[in-house]
Amino acid sequence: MIRKFLHRIFSFSSNESVTAGPVFRTIGSEQHGIARSRISPGSLKVATTLQQAGYSAYVVGGAVRDLLLGLKPKDYDVATNATPEEVRAVFRHSRIIGRRFRLVHVISRGETVEVSTFRGKVSDNAAVAKNMRAHTDETGRLLHDNVFGSQEEDVRRRDFTINALFYDPGTEEIIDYLNGFEDVKAKRLCIIGEPEQRYREDPVRMLRAVRLAAKLDIRIDDKTAAPIGDLAPLLLNVPPARLFDEMLKLLFSGHALAAVIDLRARGLHHGLLPILDVILEQPLGERFISLVLKNTDERVRQDKPVSPGFLFAALLWHEVLAVWNTHLQAGEKTTPALHKSMGEVLSAQRSRLAIPHRHDSIIYDIWSMQPRFQARAGRKPFRLLEHPHFSAAYDFMLLRCKSGEIDEELGQWWQIFKDADNASREAMLLQESPAGRRRKRRSRSKPAGEKVEAGPAESADQEIS
Ligand code: ATP
Ligand code: MG
Repeated sequence: MIRKFLHRIFSFSSNESVTAGPVFRTIGSEQHGIARSRISPGSLKVATTLQQAGYSAYVVGGAVRDLLLGLKPKDYDVATNATPEEVRAVFRHSRIIGRRFRLVHVISRGETVEVSTFRGKVSDNAAVAKNMRAHTDETGRLLHDNVFGSQEEDVRRRDFTINALFYDPGTEEIIDYLNGFEDVKAKRLCIIGEPEQRYREDPVRMLRAVRLAAKLDIRIDDKTAAPIGDLAPLLLNVPPARLFDEMLKLLFSGHALAAVIDLRARGLHHGLLPILDVILEQPLGERFISLVLKNTDERVRQDKPVSPGFLFAALLWHEVLAVWNTHLQAGEKTTPALHKSMGEVLSAQRSRLAIPHRHDSIIYDIWSMQPRFQARAGRKPFRLLEHPHFSAAYDFMLLRCKSGEIDEELGQWWQIFKDADNASREAMLLQESPAGRRRKRRSRSKPAGEKVEAGPAESADQEIS
């Protein structure tokens, strides 16, 4: 009881003591229009339970922003003055996660709600400073962010003003310290504080700016955008696993194409997907990547499943083709050369992108199955159909057709073959086989390597198994 009472005093007084006047604006539901019923049941329950336990608790971040913009929030975050241990004690189905940023995952009404304790100002906290050797590295990147503080301090630790609105489910009011409400209405993305310092603290904020601008269809404010080009190399300093997570968020945001185009325009892709440069310089590669991203965006927007393995296989495909071609020109055999190229491309990318090994098998399967679509005789097409990753490899092959890399006719043939009954399939193969043999004879007289660069129509006749 005493602890909870102190908590109430603490959170109240810290708000008031920072400045004399009111430091925030309270916006009523008649103005912002978000009724309690629009909040997800899980986060509503978590916030109200914490409030009933004597803590302050609000729905924060992306969910409030998205609701104001009339979008469906992807997930809900709750911010509170309770410490992670105190949150743990209130909810049975909860666990503390994260190291750089400790927070609690609470399972409530089938939802996972992220509950974070108000963050404080790192540099001013002498007690913590004593216990930690350094808060930032030599580029200014924050290494720890586990200093707790008041609600106002928490607001200032957030990234953008539109992400710093607090919704109180008890009163249905929004608390706004930094004019985030106006920025939402004006569709303007403004970083909180001094832009360069904030990007140095966490270079991922530059990627978040691009992702949010694309996803929300809003403009990055000039001051917020200005330092991005110069600071882009700081991304090289971000741990690869974090980059990978952020990259996935961007690619699966439903607005990946717009975001990737903007990343390039702002020079941000170097630290992220260096290979994008190489790929986008090749006309076929650019066409293919655009199609793949468009396709992914459509799937995300239709709530269809998307696989990181598929996407990475696609993003790196033209790199594989280029390396494969080099090996073929050096006189290596087709299939071993392909496998060698796959390994080389993936390991070169892995160190930077931290593509987890669990995606390897699908990436390798999709790539190594591609030449097998050329074989339209005998039992091979049947064996291909039975492959556990057939569907992914088939979708991939269709995108190659669409991009002009291989003949559209191959995609059409497989579309029919895949959906046909067995008798019709046999008939299709019978029809195909003499022509197939003729084509095979012709294609044997050319080095397969030429086909990769030479263009779409030729490579459709290639059989590698
Ligand atoms: P979405 O969930 O739609 O991707 P979001 O803004 O909710 O967008 P989260 O990663 O869920 O993104 O983060 C929740 C909130 O935490 C943000 O709205 C922001 O206030 C804060 N936040 C997230 N990442 C950072 C960061 N790198 N620096 C400062 N604050 C951040
Ligand atoms: Mg969120």
